[in-house]
Amino acid sequence: MPLKLSSTAAQIPYYPTAGGYSLPDGVALLASNECPDPPLPEVVAAAAQALTATNRYPDPSYLPLRAALSEQTGVPAERITVGNGSCDVLLALGEALLEPGTELVHAWPSFSVYPHLEAASGATAVRVDLDDEHRHDLDALAAAITDRTRLVIVCNPNNPTSTGVGLDALRGFLAEVPEDVVVLLDEAYVEFAEQYRPEDSIPLLDEHPQVVILRTFSKIYGLAGMRVGYGLCSSEELVGAAARVRQPFTVNVAAAAAATEALRHPGEIGARIRQARESREYVASGLRDLGIVPAASEANFAWFDLPAREDRTPEELEQHVLGALREHDVLVRSGGALGRSGALRVTYGTPDENERFLAALRSALA
Ligand SMILES: *Cc1c(COP(=O)(O)O)cnc(C)c1O
Repeated sequence: MPLKLSSTAAQIPYYPTAGGYSLPDGVALLASNECPDPPLPEVVAAAAQALTATNRYPDPSYLPLRAALSEQTGVPAERITVGNGSCDVLLALGEALLEPGTELVHAWPSFSVYPHLEAASGATAVRVDLDDEHRHDLDALAAAITDRTRLVIVCNPNNPTSTGVGLDALRGFLAEVPEDVVVLLDEAYVEFAEQYRPEDSIPLLDEHPQVVILRTFSKIYGLAGMRVGYGLCSSEELVGAAARVRQPFTVNVAAAAAATEALRHPGEIGARIRQARESREYVASGLRDLGIVPAASEANFAWFDLPAREDRTPEELEQHVLGALREHDVLVRSGGALGRSGALRVTYGTPDENERFLAALRSALA
């Protein structure tokens, strides 16, 4: 029976997930920017404890989690919204703000979920090229804003290119954005950055009435499988905008308990940050030994162009290297799928995985 989809749904890119990705043990999973370490035992215990009461719906205020986030960030709990992953908050804001005839401005290449906002809303996306160093071109982004623009997204540090822009540049950019254009600052990787600390961007919320800082438990907190993210907002109105379009129970009780507990272990988070920075040095120096210059990473992953070859197109080279890495049980992300053929995005893993990746790349390029 031919299914009659809404014209909006029919436009949304859809990738069947039939095969799943069950993989043998020992494969280095360096394709999704996850944390290589499992969650802390206390976090697992908190989630397990929450499971014992799952005959009840969650408390839709999620106050323990929002209060803990408020304590950590200094943002009042009323201006914090939590979601089933930060993508949930992102998609909700897109739905609440965008419609046909309006525009969304974001950089490209950037996070692969942003194009979904355009397709799902019928708005027009204006994609602004990164600069020559794979960074957001904030001047070009500001110049792309028109009176039809409702939402501008700055992914900082940027996925997939790992680069970041500093706080002064961000402040200068925000000064150019009209107050009725919402600015979403996607800080999924902020904890890994050198350019500024997570607490440093919080004042932007009070300096401007229309900023949302998007953060997640999926990366440094090691809870990607739990699906929890949050938005820190300039106003309660922004929290309400996301709430209007979502189901009331956005986060399950085990995920909320795990996230709340995860915030109680800053020492462990500090250790993970140090480990990621060591990996950054190690991987960058290994790449340079192979004649590759990675983008200046502020995140937990590397982004680089493969060295050009006379006998292959960038697409062919990328496919060859991806295949060779897979044969060595190393999974990384194709740059072509993320907007730049001939490039790769590689998440930092454990020290052993980083070493295996570099060895496998060396042999793939030989
Ligand atoms: C990983 C990532 C997220 C996190 O998404 P969740 O839904 O919280 O897992 C958000 N933004 C960017 C740019 C990311 O790379």
